[in-house]
Amino acid sequence: MKILILPGDAIGPEITAVTRQALQALDAKFDLKLELVERDIGLAAYEKTGRTMPDDVMDEIRATPFTVLGPVSTMDYPPEDEGGVNPSKAVRTNLDLYANIRPSRTRAGVPSVARDMDLIVVRENTEGFYADRNMFAGNGEFMPTPDTAMSMRKITAAGCRRIARTAFELARTRRKKLTAVHKGNVMRMTDGLFLREVRAVAKDFPDVEVDDVIVDAMAALLVRRPESFDVVVTTNMFGDILSDEAAELAGGLGLGGSINASETQAVAQAAHGSAPDIAGQNKANPTAHLISAQLLLKWHADRSGNNQLASAAAHLEAALDSVLADPANHTPDLGGTVGTREFGDRLAKAVSG
Ligand code: NAD
Repeated sequence: MKILILPGDAIGPEITAVTRQALQALDAKFDLKLELVERDIGLAAYEKTGRTMPDDVMDEIRATPFTVLGPVSTMDYPPEDEGGVNPSKAVRTNLDLYANIRPSRTRAGVPSVARDMDLIVVRENTEGFYADRNMFAGNGEFMPTPDTAMSMRKITAAGCRRIARTAFELARTRRKKLTAVHKGNVMRMTDGLFLREVRAVAKDFPDVEVDDVIVDAMAALLVRRPESFDVVVTTNMFGDILSDEAAELAGGLGLGGSINASETQAVAQAAHGSAPDIAGQNKANPTAHLISAQLLLKWHADRSGNNQLASAAAHLEAALDSVLADPANHTPDLGGTVGTREFGDRLAKAVSG
């Protein structure tokens, strides 16, 4: 079973090394016969090829069921026409990975603002206010004059329907509660369309309780009563922001794992960025990257019915919980003193045990 590993920029290689070590330990325990293949993207690829997302790597991602993508320093990239393509955008749009699934939950032993929270933000990934990826050609941001900048927000009924369906299906496997987040009071057409489609899909899921919340209220309610949310479905930009908020409430950005999925393919990628402020210092928390890899294994296990893979994914999640339960294992972002590499060693031991 081939897993394509793309370390990315800044802390990317450090957290990737830990995930690699954990996958190797998992392989030894469950005999998954993993073949871990690493390729450069981002600034490392740019130095060698003049492109942050080389075409041959994109082709390999297309052909590989399992890809683990590291964080990327897109702010440091040259313009797109000079080779600085955002790999996150390239992967999501080329493979039409329309669902960004971002769980956040509180964990025993992990200090968090939220006392009790277990939710999943299901974020539409291919349209909305994303100027570099919501157009077939051209860019969704433009400047008619030097002092006027405009941005297009694209919302389609088909895009809303498929993300709503993903969210309802997920809610059905959990506490059967779905919250649609929008700004329909102001963006009556775009968010009106989103709500119309969510309500239409809801008719196929009578067993799932549905409500809707305006995005600004949602930002507050997530802090006030995070335990009341189960699956949250929303458009691209709102989902990006609210999922970071949820990760932070659960302990920190270093815990925010995610997968980008279509019906047939998924790519693991932590919700956080490349954290250049702590790169190369052995301080990064690899948990979000590890959770993303675990979600990827589970996603494939659920679809293929591969019990061995399902057991491996569950085992990795339990091992991670057991390591995080002891504050003596925490990285600096969680208030601890343990380095990225040492965390990796302790996790690998827990996986093997
Ligand atoms: P960031 O998420 O990289 O960092 C924000 C803060 O959180 C920083 O203080 C950082 O140290 C901390 N942090 C993030 N991940 C952490 C981890 N695993 N362990 C410990 N602390 C962690 O956001 P930013 O600083 O705004 O952006 C940095 C770069 O990342 C930019 O180039 C941005 O464009 C890019 N970015 C990439 C992605 C992605 O690859 N998916 C997402 C967001 C931002």
